[in-house]
Amino acid sequence: MRTSRLLLATEREDPSDAEIVSHRLMIRAGLVRRLAAGLYTWLPLGLRVLRKIEDIVRDEMDRAGAQEVLMPAVQPAELWMESGRWDHFGPELLRLRDRHERDFCVGPTHEEVITDIVRREVRSYRQLPLNLYQIQTKFRDEVRPRFGVMRAREFIMKDAYSFDLDEAGSRRSYEAMRDAYRRIFARTGLDFRVVEADSGAIGGSRSEEFHVLAESGEDDIAFNDAGTYAANLELTPAPPPPSRGPAAETMREVSTPDVRTISEVSRRLGVPPERCLKTLFVEGDAGPVALVLRGDHDLNLVKASRLDGVRAPVALASPDAVREAAGAGPGAVGPVGLGVPVVVDRWAAAARDFVCGANRDDAHLAGVNWGRDAPEPATADLRNAIEGDPSPDGRGAISIRRGIEVGHVFQLGRKYSESMHAVCLDESGRARTLEMGCYGIGVSRIAAAAIEQSHDENGIVWPDAIAPFEVALLPVNAHRSGRVRDRSEALYEALRAAGIEVLLDDRAIRPGVMFSEMDLIGIPHRLVLGERRLDEGAIEYRRRRGGETEIVPLEEAVAHVAARLDRRSGEG
Ligand code: ATP
Ligand code: MG
Repeated sequence: MRTSRLLLATEREDPSDAEIVSHRLMIRAGLVRRLAAGLYTWLPLGLRVLRKIEDIVRDEMDRAGAQEVLMPAVQPAELWMESGRWDHFGPELLRLRDRHERDFCVGPTHEEVITDIVRREVRSYRQLPLNLYQIQTKFRDEVRPRFGVMRAREFIMKDAYSFDLDEAGSRRSYEAMRDAYRRIFARTGLDFRVVEADSGAIGGSRSEEFHVLAESGEDDIAFNDAGTYAANLELTPAPPPPSRGPAAETMREVSTPDVRTISEVSRRLGVPPERCLKTLFVEGDAGPVALVLRGDHDLNLVKASRLDGVRAPVALASPDAVREAAGAGPGAVGPVGLGVPVVVDRWAAAARDFVCGANRDDAHLAGVNWGRDAPEPATADLRNAIEGDPSPDGRGAISIRRGIEVGHVFQLGRKYSESMHAVCLDESGRARTLEMGCYGIGVSRIAAAAIEQSHDENGIVWPDAIAPFEVALLPVNAHRSGRVRDRSEALYEALRAAGIEVLLDDRAIRPGVMFSEMDLIGIPHRLVLGERRLDEGAIEYRRRRGGETEIVPLEEAVAHVAARLDRRSGEG
């Protein structure tokens, strides 16, 4: 490709709405353009990256024995009513009505459609195992679309669905996908972790996420140094608490006007945050439920959502509901004399001589002890694990890093096959409900995640495997030198003939502008052809990723580049 024929839509200025580096660079390098909130056009350069990612995904899915299909983006409401999700999916589901007043949605995912296909087409165990996948546009009306294509409303997903006769088969299908995902992310050149994930309320037995580690990630990942434990923080158990010592103080009420937060309470009373307990009211099936944690610990919403009587997803009770239940505002409530169900985090239950709200505005209690001043509490693991906690598998300590979820594998069980009657005859002619798995990859999100992980102050540094071009061929002042122009044309043809994806910058622009633009778009290998080197019969080669410039004889240029391309085929 020649730059003169390419819509190279680079920009000098950072877009004002971009909070993270990948968003900024995707706009500046001319990969994508925003149409409306969460809706993006992929420009030619960006689309080349997207296609490369798709090719890797397709290659590994096919290798794993999955078959590609393509389902409609628009789906009839009836299927979603059968599965029960029409009512449960909430506002992320974009619903629409056709001219005959029939309800539809724009698919955020395709379990219903694929289950419908399979229940019609699959009759016998001989057709199993079956894994069908597609690479297709999804729509989710996200509350906060942001970070460009990272959290868009319309995005490209690879979604696969496996069908097996029994649990053991389903587990094998799951393992095969898990392996395929490892290969896919390794081939894209990403630094990733496989982490245990919440299998949620839908009763799936096993679920793991694939995360790219990056500061801008929206998930917290907990893992140990030994590499034997990695999980989404949502599910990381906190260690057992230390034992509770004997009470030393007597309970007393202290006046605390204008004191709301734990750090204010701690400062005012001179008690460290770990001995200041906080009480959070969440919505329950029968009125609010009070959850008590140490002031220095954070509530884990997934753990809380699993408590009996607590509504999932967890929602804080309104200030009015808190006042009605406890007689005070949210900043002054506590477990002493409280008339609602109380569940206490195990670490908070191990506290003694603690401070808590007095259930009276502008007042706290100090020197409080469980069993004496408040009933011995019901306890649960409610807090987030924190940096330095012992690893749940007993090996070393936990570190916490931010991660971007790029993939998710999920053993679903029979949630959809049961509600939608996807059955199949086994060897003895008995009808069996199918075991399903679903497996998603955020194809468009991978492009952004790769940039988060690989960039410098000058722009993107693409991994070879997903770069829009492998080599940038940059003739210096070719418009003034026939010799440079002829040599660069010849080299361009030679590179193409060798099967190398090359971008020739044939514009009459200043070399400095050309170099900085090529740095911005991040092509991993660069050849610079200028008068002076040509006199020596040579050309300059440099890697985008911080390499030294090498002087290479012109006739060796193609071989030199070819030997440096990282073309992981995924074989072996
Ligand atoms: P998230 O927790 O980031 O909202 P999710 O768990 O809802 O994602 P899945 O239903 O597991 O997502 O979808 C499979 C994959 O699709 C995710 O692993 C992610 O890579 C990608 N994905 C999900 N939502 C978006 C989005 N709004 N924009 C871009 N990619 C997305
Ligand atoms: Mg997910």
